[in-house]
Amino acid sequence: MSKKQSRRTRRFARKLANRCITLLESGKWRVMYIDMDGRPEVCLPYGLDHKAVGTCDYAKKTLFIDFRRDVISTLVHELLHARFPDWPESLVAEREKTVMEYLSPRQARKLHLAMGRWLAVPGE
Ligand SMILES: [Zn+2]
Repeated sequence: MSKKQSRRTRRFARKLANRCITLLESGKWRVMYIDMDGRPEVCLPYGLDHKAVGTCDYAKKTLFIDFRRDVISTLVHELLHARFPDWPESLVAEREKTVMEYLSPRQARKLHLAMGRWLAVPGE
């Protein structure tokens, strides 16, 4: 990738990250920390896939995140699903990689702080 291309990609990635941040800050979605990966009994009440590390539940407006895995990249992935419901899984996965490659420390902090505001756990 040329310098010009990589600058363009960085700008694109950070804009995308900002759209995720705006959605999370809006409070329209909550985040639930859950130990879903490999635990069918934990997933059952929520209808989650026990082979996943995150899920975007459009009906419940909830992003389920396995806190034992890579939280920020999973959060970005699920936010992209929430923000762009028409995107296929492959595109979400590709854009997640791009966002994570260029996410700035300030953006990472915004994601953390916004997530903390809406963070739930099972049984509450
Ligand atoms: Zn996905």
